[in-house]
Amino acid sequence: MEQSKNLLRQLPAVDQLLRHPLLQELSRENRNLVVAFTRQVLMGWRKRIRSTGVEPPGIEELVMEIRARYEACNRSNLQAVINATGVVLHTNLGRAVLSRAAAEAALMAARRYTNLELNLETGRRGNRYDHVSGLLRELTGAEAALVVNNNAAAVYLSLAALAAGRETIISRGQLVEIGGSFRIPEVMAQSGTRLVEVGTTNKTYLRDYEAAAGPDTALLLKVHPSNYRIRGFTHEVTTAELVDLGRRLQVPVMEDLGSGFLVDLQSYGIGGEPTVQFEIKQGVDLLTFSGDKLLGGPQAGIILGRRELVDVIARHPLTRALRVDKMTLAALEATLRAYRNPDLAIKEVPTLAALVARPEDLRRRAKRLHSLLALAVGSRARIGIKEIASQAGGGSLPLIELPSWCVTVIPAGVTVEELAGRLRQTNPPVLVRLQEDTLILDVRTLLPGESEELARAMVEALDGINDPSRET
Ligand SMILES: *Cc1c(COP(=O)(O)O)cnc(C)c1O
Repeated sequence: MEQSKNLLRQLPAVDQLLRHPLLQELSRENRNLVVAFTRQVLMGWRKRIRSTGVEPPGIEELVMEIRARYEACNRSNLQAVINATGVVLHTNLGRAVLSRAAAEAALMAARRYTNLELNLETGRRGNRYDHVSGLLRELTGAEAALVVNNNAAAVYLSLAALAAGRETIISRGQLVEIGGSFRIPEVMAQSGTRLVEVGTTNKTYLRDYEAAAGPDTALLLKVHPSNYRIRGFTHEVTTAELVDLGRRLQVPVMEDLGSGFLVDLQSYGIGGEPTVQFEIKQGVDLLTFSGDKLLGGPQAGIILGRRELVDVIARHPLTRALRVDKMTLAALEATLRAYRNPDLAIKEVPTLAALVARPEDLRRRAKRLHSLLALAVGSRARIGIKEIASQAGGGSLPLIELPSWCVTVIPAGVTVEELAGRLRQTNPPVLVRLQEDTLILDVRTLLPGESEELARAMVEALDGINDPSRET
């Protein structure tokens, strides 16, 4: 008892700690927080000393603890992370990474006044969508274009504007769920259209649509199955056939393309996906896709199609509720501009660059990361290199395996699960893949400069594990 009182007296007073130069400096930013954390840290030590009789720490150690709390408190909740999973469009990691031009455009729109809704020629009110609709028409061949918050909104709004109170015909094989909460039947119900399912899960024929169509049919809907494929005995009606039927019935054909490629990557081994312009050329009356999937832009839902249909959608009251902000429009415009030269787009749009990265280049990058890591971690882990397959992700190209290279890490004296957990806590956090007792770092999704950061993070994570004095 007496002894713990003596120990407690060795702890400095709050004022004494606050006079430390480092805390003085932090106090200039936010004195209230520094005072609060100083009190908290001292209180914590008083408790510990009373209950266990440990020696109190010195002033420097206390100051470091206060600073750590202060910095943790000021760290953004939304922070940059290193994506070493190889999943290019990782929904949990924010999908597409913007090109430099797109990011700079968004920054400009955020930091300055813009002509968002002003026609600079006439001085009169302008339309915010004009900044991208011309480019979208030029790139895709569509008559008209509109942009909303995301593709879910694009589908919902289009159905609400064109088919509420009437029927929409869709194949049973296309009643998909995407990303856990976007379910075509539920979106259709919410929009007010009546769902008319035709065909079966694996086979739907043109005659199924024909038999179901009637005077109340407002739309023929085709949905890209995105994240899954039915294999074996299957049949779906082609876009051309559906368009042909739509013309005969005088019913518009709408397609939810999901990802929406603007460049054909067949020559890079990524085939089987129709491009947006190909679908428009086939005569689809209305088409929607995401801005932040294979297009590699900001989150947005792009609606393309015949002028009179897009006009009806643009006038619907929901359009205002689902509209996009100036930063999104700026980033989307810059992303689209890159597509005027497809070869440039493949270099500059990070999503495309990651998808088409050549195995020999990935191998070189893996070798480099291997050397950095081997040097940094020493004997604390076994570092290797091997071939692996990465994925597009984001519900895109589910069957395509992209040949890639990875660095493997087998830590000493700790499970890979624990190491992966530690890596989520480093600064910046690192997201990895696990394969049995091996930690996999797929270099496909590493951005320039991240290899060095990753090596530092790995040391931080291994230190945390191997240092028994570190509190958990
Ligand atoms: C991804 C996807 C959606 C949803 O798009 P978001 O931009 O995520 O809202 C809708 N339909 C299909 C076919 C998709 O692949």
